[in-house]
Parts: sequence; C-alpha cells; structure tokens
Amino acid sequence: MAPRAAAAILSIGDELALGQTLDTNSRWIADRLFSLGVRAVEHATVSDDLGDIRDALGRLGERAGLVVCTGGLGPTADDLTRQALATLLGAALVEDGDAIEHLERWFAGRGGLPSINRVQALRPASGAALENPNGTAPGIRVRDERRGAEIFCLPGPPHEMRPMFERFVAPFAGTLADGVTRARLLMTFGLGESKLAEILDDLMDRDRGARGLPVVGTTASLGVVTCRIRATGPDADSATAALNNAEREVRERLEASNAGGIVFAARDVTQSGAGETKEALAQTVVEMLRDRGERFAVVESCTGGLVGGAVTAIAGSSDVFVGGWQTYSNDMKNAMVGVPDEVIAEHGAVSGVCARAMTRGALERLAASGIRADHALSVTGIAGPGGGSDDKPVGTVWIGCASRKPEGVISGEARRFVFKGGRGAIRSWSVNTALGLLRLRLAGTEMMLLGEQERELD
Ligand code: ATP
Repeated sequence: MAPRAAAAILSIGDELALGQTLDTNSRWIADRLFSLGVRAVEHATVSDDLGDIRDALGRLGERAGLVVCTGGLGPTADDLTRQALATLLGAALVEDGDAIEHLERWFAGRGGLPSINRVQALRPASGAALENPNGTAPGIRVRDERRGAEIFCLPGPPHEMRPMFERFVAPFAGTLADGVTRARLLMTFGLGESKLAEILDDLMDRDRGARGLPVVGTTASLGVVTCRIRATGPDADSATAALNNAEREVRERLEASNAGGIVFAARDVTQSGAGETKEALAQTVVEMLRDRGERFAVVESCTGGLVGGAVTAIAGSSDVFVGGWQTYSNDMKNAMVGVPDEVIAEHGAVSGVCARAMTRGALERLAASGIRADHALSVTGIAGPGGGSDDKPVGTVWIGCASRKPEGVISGEARRFVFKGGRGAIRSWSVNTALGLLRLRLAGTEMMLLGEQERELD
C-alpha cells in the first residue's frame, strides 16, 4: 500500500513534456501540500498519450496515498486523462448528471452545449465529478483501491486548477497529514555549498526524517547558500520547537567553524515561500542600514547599475540608498568620481587602486555636494566573453567598499575576485558579492569570501 502521508503530482500535456509551457502547477501544488503537512515525493510530466498517462498514474499510486494530476480534461481527442483513469481502474466511464448540467449552464446563451463537450462530463463509475466554476472541464476524484491512492484530476489552466485544489484536494490532504511540518530557511553568504555541507555534516543525513529528527538540506544560487531546515511534530508547537533546536544546532556548528557571520537572514517558509531568497541579501543590507540610520552609494562599471537595481527593488530602500553612477567608460570614471587618469594608465580600470579610487571619489563628491552618505560600493571587472588576458582573465572583478568615519576619515578596501560562468552569472555574482561585502562591514565580521583572491586596504 502506498504511504498515506505522501503525495505525487502528475502534469499532463505535450506542451509541458516538450518544454514549451513551464509547469507551474506542480510547484504550486507541492508548496500548498507542504503547508498542509503532506510531502510531495515525486513530480512527473507526461505527454498526451493514453498509455503513458495510465502507467504514470499507476506508478505514482504505488508511491503515494494522494495523486494530484492536472491537464488533459478538455473536450478534444488529445485530452485523454478520463480514458487513462478508466483503463487504469478497469472501470466504465459514465456521464455525470451534475457535470452535464454545469456544461449546459456554461454554454447557455452561447449556442447551447456542443456535442464535442459532452465527453467532459464522463467520469469513472466509482468516482465523483468536481465542479469547475471557472471553466468547462470538471475535475474527477476517484479512489484506486488496489494501490491505496486517492486520485484527483484537475484542469490544467492555473486559474481553474487553484480554486478547485482549495475546495476539493486541500480538505482531503488535511486528513492525511501525520503531524505538522514547519520549515525555515537560513540564508548564508560567504562560504561555498560543499564547505557548508562539511560543517553541517550529519545534520544533513537523509535518514534523519525517518528517525523523527529535523532534516537539513542546502541549495546554492550565485553565492547565496540557503540552508533549509524541516521539522515535523504532532502539533504546531512541537514542530516549531524542533525547528528552533535544529536552527540553534546549525548556528552552533557554524560558530564552531568561525563561520557564524555567514547567516544573513532566517525566514519561515510560508505558502509562497519558494524562491523568496532572490532579494534577501539586498533586503538585509537595507534593513541593517536603516537600523543604523546610515546611507550608501554605488559606482558601477561592469555591473552597469545592477547593484543599484537590486537595492531599489526593495520597497523603502530610499531611506538608505542615495543613488550612484554608472561609470562604464574610463572617462566617466574620471569625470564623475575623479579616478585619476594616471591610475587607469598605470593599473588599468580593473584594479584595486581604481576600485578604491571609485569609492573614495564617490564619498568625496557626495560630501562636497552636501549629500550625506556613509558608505560606497564600487564594482569594476571583466564580465566577458571578450576582454580577458592571462593577467586578468574573464571573471576578474574588483569590488571596493569604503566608509566614512565620524572623524571624517574615509576607510576603504578593495578585493579581487575571480567568478566563473558566463557574462550574466559573473555580473550577478558581482552584485551579490558587493552587497555581501557591505553586509560584512556593517556586521563587523571579517572573513574571506567565495572567489576572493587578494585584497588591498587604504
Ligand atoms: P481545459 O479544458 O480548461 O483547457 P485541460 O485540463 O484540458 O482544461 P490542458 O488543455 O491540458 O487543460 O491545458 C490548458 C492550458 O493550461 C495549457 O495550454 C497551459 O497554458 C495551462 N497548463 C496546463 N498544465 C499546466 C501546468 N502544469 N502548469 C502551468 N500551466 C498549465
């Protein structure tokens, strides 16, 4: 028998299998199930093929007590979910009276129910039709007794599927949950994923869940490594307590490895939790500066405004961000923030001296204009694909960070990084690293960052 508290999700459609439409349904359904205490163990995608749909439904029914599938409920010859279900269960398809009524109402005033649409009212004899207030395709709920799985078939269009999920699937999923699961993301910047995994060690063992212990996993994106902690308990309080304990253990291990400073944010995963790490670093920097009542500026060369873009994506960043310059050309570096021509002639625009001159120049020019800024960031590098040399390969980026001290003294530094990947990745790494560097400075934490090669201090 399939494990009751596990779910599997099946997406049906040629356009999904071919990659022409992005399968957003599965992600949404898995996320909703998770918040209801049911874990999705598999997502599958098949094309509009009767045998493939039937086989996938059968296989997933062996794996999970709940199978949610979307798509293939339309009226045309390539909509085969109903027939696949009937074949799987060895059941006859019968016309559902309520579904026919719904279709008749739907088409009333539009020329009446087309005969082709009558097929949409068919369901396996032992199943039930699920009302779809936003479209023609009713859903189907049916039990696969042999495998011990409850199957819900919902239409593919997200605006039809979602309300039907809430009305029909969510209450059933709620009865499956063994306990309450809570999840938290600890977002880090500074160490690579493998180094973090080494520190977390046995906390990442995959069988901890089966032993009733919180499970820890990691995901990495452009330097931000997110530690995902998941804990289950009989009720919400005990799940939260287990989550808190696991978080404490993760933080203690990081501290013991002198890496306590890499955690920049902790967030509980909510219904819309997935993917919310993207702006987290900029958000943290904005909040830290706001707490301190400080402001900063940027001078960007190879990132062409992306640092400013990331910061201004955060609502309320105007409290802490004064603005900056896109000094893409050497003459702009000179004219706007006063980088001396000799610096560029002698060291090149991609150099620590230039990166430091950019931040210093920015703070001085702002002060001269009576604009208060406490910190400045600069980025100058070679994003490629051309422009690299043996000395300065593509991916070489100098990032400067300078702060104004109360005495009026400017203290700055620049660090050289070599980032890997294409132009887009190098620029995104640069943005995150610049923000990560400012964050470290604000936190008073000293550490070498991922990709760092050397540094120069004022
Ligand atoms: P209907 O009769 O209302 O179209 P259906 O169940 O037949 O329902 P499909 O024809 O399979 O639905 O899909 C209709 C549209 O819904 C697709 O063209 C696509 O835009 C969207 N869709 C289907 N499946 C998904 C999915 N997994 N993720 C996101 N969108 C989807």
